[in-house]
Amino acid sequence: MTLSIASGMVPLVIRARMAAGVAHAVPWGISLDGLLASEIRENTKAAAREAGTDCTPYSLDTVPDDLDLPLARCSGDGGDGWHWAATFAYPEDEVPGPHVQYWSARPDQQALGQMSAELPALVSERQGRYRSRVMPLPLTIARHLVWRAVGDPVAITELLTPIVSIGKKRGAGHGHILSWEVTEHPDADPWEFAHLHPDGTLGRTAPATCLPEHERGDLRTGGEGRMGVRPPYMHPSRRTLVLLPAT
Ligand SMILES: [Zn+2]
Repeated sequence: MTLSIASGMVPLVIRARMAAGVAHAVPWGISLDGLLASEIRENTKAAAREAGTDCTPYSLDTVPDDLDLPLARCSGDGGDGWHWAATFAYPEDEVPGPHVQYWSARPDQQALGQMSAELPALVSERQGRYRSRVMPLPLTIARHLVWRAVGDPVAITELLTPIVSIGKKRGAGHGHILSWEVTEHPDADPWEFAHLHPDGTLGRTAPATCLPEHERGDLRTGGEGRMGVRPPYMHPSRRTLVLLPAT
């Protein structure tokens, strides 16, 4: 495992001040590299729309290109299992949970009628594709979300500043961010800031080779599993055997 740190990159703490809770489906927090990558992708798509050109759509069948993020790189397993030097979100001053909200959805009969010329007499709300649903929405409630990273503070601040909400159900007011703060910690240990949460537990998915030998026995992780090591995390081509972040 080696870290490649470009000039101008330093260990950083990134802190988002939250209005309330953030919703996500997985037990660990939102990845900083994923957040930066999706922001770059959105900007690219917007520029393509403006210029009237096409942009390669996301597809499960093609191996996605790696975007050039303003982060240092950890060689990971030395092969395709490399990753960006940044953690997943860590809730600071968390209000102990679990906090679960429920949302419900039912088909709009009038809208269905407008979309179809031959609507059956009854679209059942109890069964089939258009049944009503009640879904749980797990929330993390915390004053701040904190990420650690090694990267370029100016470029990262520029990408994060326009982001006003993160996580799921943002349209319903979840994951609203009041402000971003990026602080430099030039004397901090880059390996630690690339891998660990502030409480010293594993803060991201990482191949076991990321861990120095003396850490392997003691470090608190979420165990082993197959998951992505870099964005887009959910893409099958990114999945490999990793240590999971502690929860
Ligand atoms: Zn690593």
